[in-house]
Amino acid sequence: MSGVKETDLNKFPSDLSHPEAGTSFLPPATRPTSDIRKPANEVMQRAMSSAKNEERHIFDNSIVFIVVKDHILTSTCRHADGVECQLCLYEKELKLPHLPEMIFPNNTLTILLKSHPNEFFIQFNTFDALKRVNATAAPDVQVGPSAVWKEARKDAHIKESEHPYDWTYTSDYDGTLGPYVQVEPTEERIDLEKLKRKDPIHFYAQLSLYEDELHDHGIAEMTIRVRVMPTCFFVLCRFYLRIDHVMVRVCDTRLFGEIGQDYVLREWSLREAKYAELSPQDLENVLDPNVIWQALPLLTVKSTKLYPSK
Ligand SMILES: [Zn+2]
Repeated sequence: MSGVKETDLNKFPSDLSHPEAGTSFLPPATRPTSDIRKPANEVMQRAMSSAKNEERHIFDNSIVFIVVKDHILTSTCRHADGVECQLCLYEKELKLPHLPEMIFPNNTLTILLKSHPNEFFIQFNTFDALKRVNATAAPDVQVGPSAVWKEARKDAHIKESEHPYDWTYTSDYDGTLGPYVQVEPTEERIDLEKLKRKDPIHFYAQLSLYEDELHDHGIAEMTIRVRVMPTCFFVLCRFYLRIDHVMVRVCDTRLFGEIGQDYVLREWSLREAKYAELSPQDLENVLDPNVIWQALPLLTVKSTKLYPSK
């Protein structure tokens, strides 16, 4: 790998707005089939073809990173050519009484293998992330927040009769896999020491999928960062929840790949603590997810190896 050459980028033929490439945006085969597929696919396709900002990078002449950043979901319904608008799609399919305040419906990180140019290997997209938010049960938050939330609900004039849902927008989303990807559980962990090395960074991007300020009682957000170095790459998709004076939660999906390795290591983890469990110094850092995550007890971790099938 000798850095990005403009010519390499232009040579790569993947055109995501091509009709045949549309299948790339289907949910993985392991998820239940539903009517969502078709409209979601159409909307995704349209979104991709009109994307405002797209960056590409090729790693090791074999793995392509595509970052798309676009506008926020508009709050008005607009239908063109009889195709359902994104707002309707999100409202109808997610069944959440309230969507997060900020949704970036077209923001995506797509990782493609040049050997499989028409389907992605793994993608992180907002719709699939929000599909993992519980739309039928209140969040499992025991101490304090009920009072905090009662206050917030009052602020928002939310009716008590409204059906319960996870107003923290917690999502255990760990990416959407392409149909040819094989998943194997592993005990292997990502070596974070490798990532602390001062390797030159050939490509870096960060993007937001969604965000909600919990009516000024904290924040719930999902963001993605990708970093490509000469011999390895690292992706972090992070859900960060802070309910002020109550609790902090971080759900991280990390991807790590390196030259000479025929799989991508994916690690999903859940960390959380109540304010009462944090030291005074940690409490000073609760506003910064990049710092506080390390102070939170690790509750769950699961690693998988992602292989392209032969
Ligand atoms: Zn609409």
